[in-house]
Amino acid sequence: MSGLSESQTFATEWAESAMGKPPEDFWQARAACRGEHAYLFFPPNHFERKHEKLQRETAAKAICARCPVIEECREYALAIREPHGIWGGMTEQERKEALAQRQYAG
Ligand code: SF4
Repeated sequence: MSGLSESQTFATEWAESAMGKPPEDFWQARAACRGEHAYLFFPPNHFERKHEKLQRETAAKAICARCPVIEECREYALAIREPHGIWGGMTEQERKEALAQRQYAG
């Protein structure tokens, strides 16, 4: 989990936090990103080149694509306006655009 800031409320961190593992009926408990690949979902603490960012985000999105809780995760991230990382297969920018589209649609 290195590279994640304190403010990042990521499902994996939440699930494995000092509060203990979530009950199995929480969608976070079924997140495909739990474990060793969690570092892919947020930018590192060091400078990341554009192609490195794209590569990391593509790898994270591939995990999201096979995640059983992608819809729950995406809606949660949109609802709380999560500003960092890949959630529900979407980047920060993609979430901003989705929210803007929803607002425009009414
Ligand atoms: S959709 Fe992606 S970020 Fe969300 S829980 Fe699943 S793997 Fe993790």
